[in-house]
Amino acid sequence: MSMFRLHPAFLELIYKGTVAFLNPGKSLIVRSRIINSGLIFAERLFKKPVFDCQMCGQCVLHNTGMTCPMTCPKSLRNGPCGGVRNNGNCEVKPEMMCVWVTAWERSKQMPIYGPNINAIMAPLDRRLQDTSAWVNELSGRTEIIQDEWSS
Ligand code: SF4
Repeated sequence: MSMFRLHPAFLELIYKGTVAFLNPGKSLIVRSRIINSGLIFAERLFKKPVFDCQMCGQCVLHNTGMTCPMTCPKSLRNGPCGGVRNNGNCEVKPEMMCVWVTAWERSKQMPIYGPNINAIMAPLDRRLQDTSAWVNELSGRTEIIQDEWSS
């Protein structure tokens, strides 16, 4: 699965394709508990090994170079802290590359969503932890959080 990580442009195509595939059935997806549970299962199955997904329920992968910001030890979702080391590694985990250095480099390989790295994202709504990010996206909940915060 980690081979997928090497290809952010491919991953963004999968994301775009999944949006196009799920969107027509979104009203059913949002209402059905079975589909909801299935999507939670699928997200754990696929996103955990590929992105080390923490199931925040408010996915921003396509805005962050297909790099999960929740793997940052400080869970920063709008760029790095001031502690990035000279070699680009994390101040909390010196053996680890800063998530935001990785996100920046990977976003440059993404022709569709790469420029989204410059967007300011809403703070994390912790009430969505362990829910399906896809359901939250399709129901408009993610967008509402972003809009309420931006206005
Ligand atoms: S942003 Fe949230 S939903 Fe997306 S991969 Fe990271 S923890 Fe999972």
